[in-house]
Amino acid sequence: MENYYIKTNRTFTFIRKNAWIITLLVALGGLYEPKLGLLVVFIMGGLLTTAFFRGRYWCGNFCPHSSLFDRIFLPISLNKKIPKILKSKPVILAVLAFFFYNFSRKIMGISGLWGTYDFLDKLGAIFSRTYLMVLIVGGILAIAINPRTWCQFCPMGTMQKLSYRLGKFLGISKKFEKKVTIEAKEKCHSCGKCSRVCPFQLTPYLEFSEKNQFDNINCIKCATCIENCPANILSLRTEEEALELTKNVSLEGYENRQRISAKIVDIKDLTEDVKEFTFSFISPGRVDYKPGQFILVKIQDDPKSYRAYSISSSNEDNRQVKIIVKRVERGYGTSIIFNSFNIGDEVELEGPMGNNLVVDPTEEKLLFVANGIGITPFIGLSKWVLSKNPSIKSLILLNGQRYEKDLLYNDYFKSLDKEYENFQYVPILSREKLPDIKKGYVTDILKYMDLEGYKVYMCGTRKMIEDSYKILLDKGIKEEDIFYESESRIDLKNKDTLIKAS
Ligand SMILES: Cc1cc2nc3c(=O)[nH]c(=O)nc-3n(C[C@H](O)[C@H](O)[C@H](O)COP(=O)(O)OP(=O)(O)OC[C@H]3O[C@@H](n4cnc5c(N)ncnc54)[C@H](O)[C@@H]3O)c2cc1C
Ligand code: SF4
Ligand code: SF4
Repeated sequence: MENYYIKTNRTFTFIRKNAWIITLLVALGGLYEPKLGLLVVFIMGGLLTTAFFRGRYWCGNFCPHSSLFDRIFLPISLNKKIPKILKSKPVILAVLAFFFYNFSRKIMGISGLWGTYDFLDKLGAIFSRTYLMVLIVGGILAIAINPRTWCQFCPMGTMQKLSYRLGKFLGISKKFEKKVTIEAKEKCHSCGKCSRVCPFQLTPYLEFSEKNQFDNINCIKCATCIENCPANILSLRTEEEALELTKNVSLEGYENRQRISAKIVDIKDLTEDVKEFTFSFISPGRVDYKPGQFILVKIQDDPKSYRAYSISSSNEDNRQVKIIVKRVERGYGTSIIFNSFNIGDEVELEGPMGNNLVVDPTEEKLLFVANGIGITPFIGLSKWVLSKNPSIKSLILLNGQRYEKDLLYNDYFKSLDKEYENFQYVPILSREKLPDIKKGYVTDILKYMDLEGYKVYMCGTRKMIEDSYKILLDKGIKEEDIFYESESRIDLKNKDTLIKAS
């Protein structure tokens, strides 16, 4: 069985990337220069103050030990589930009590030196040894279990929670605390990725409040879930900002989302790692979906998880839906789908969802750009557009794949190309040179196309979409005429992403 939890970059900022150096400086440097330990006094002051206003924000954004765990230990960690007992109240309180007992005992021991130069050295040494102890114990736990195992019962974390509760009681944190916020629960894929990448293994997608916020006191506001949510619907917001966001969100494409029980009636091997599944609806017996939308397939109950797949059929009678699934190396969901889905099985679906690739067939000129498994929505869409609008001026499909064997539905697209004069099918291979197929990437073709008047729909890898988007803008296509869907989070309205892409 594949590991449920995913190792992913959690250190997005300069401080999170480099604060681990402070840990080494204090813990190891303190052995030679004890006064370095006095830095911890400022660290404690910082964490208690930020906690008062913003909960455990410090743990996710400034803590030097956390930076060490996430940056240095994550790559070699076994990244397993953190045992429940280590998150339990008795353990948390016992560690806090031990910390205070030990700390006060040591402070009492040096109290006789108060006012002397030696006092600062001894005090620094106490802090620095404590830092070293956390480095050793936290480090072992980080490698053997999960990088943030220590954080579950860290006395500094517990003190932050107490400071936060005080801020909350006084009504102050409400104004300043930014919580993970979901723009609309209807748009959530229930894929659990937010939980699989969460350093604390929390489950935001199962716990969003009425106000669409994640209220868990242990959330360290590290934004790892936000960076990884494929639906791009998470952000950090105050209560007031959350209210504003949820008030203005559009649910177009999600109105018809429903739970569907369905039966697998066909499974076809399209390549050695790609299968096509046909589901027949049982309850309700008919589902109205549009080509270009996607559907969720339930893979397990505990924790509840689905996977999103583009609909590849064009919905002839509302009774069946087809999806095409590519097996992902180390993929948790695809290993379940490939190993345990059989013809005749009943499965739970949810959908239809999405409107990014829902096309207006009356448009005069359409360009579809796909790479990899992103070709799947265009199988149903191309036929649907041509049947709804046979006199469309131009419909072009660019299909970028690595090898000829990856060209799914190649004969089907070729026959559409033959049948419809206004449809142009352009396969492109990046790793294989064949006499009648262009070699390169879809972007190589895009650069030279005359795209005046086209509306563009893209589906595929993040890189392809970011690079193509840049080319399209350079060619004068307006932002509002470019639409895209990807399995990765893409936010091209965000200027930083565009700069990275350029
Ligand atoms: C709107 C939409 C439409 C989609 N349409 C399609 C479609 O038509 N066809 C299709 O095949 N897919 C599609 N997808 C993708 C699909 O939803 C799944 O994400 C995909 O099938 C992989 O699921 P998985 O659970 O097997 O992979 P995951 O386990 O989620 O793996 C995802 C990535 O993380 C890596 N990873 C996994 N475990 C670890 C680990 N322990 N440490 C480090 N890295 C790890 C994997 O190598 C992989 O690169 C779509 C996604 C979206 C959002
Ligand atoms: S829920 Fe999100 S922000 Fe909170 S700790 Fe987990 S990954 Fe970080
Ligand atoms: S990561 Fe998946 S489950 Fe979590 S909020 Fe985003 S879409 Fe929903």
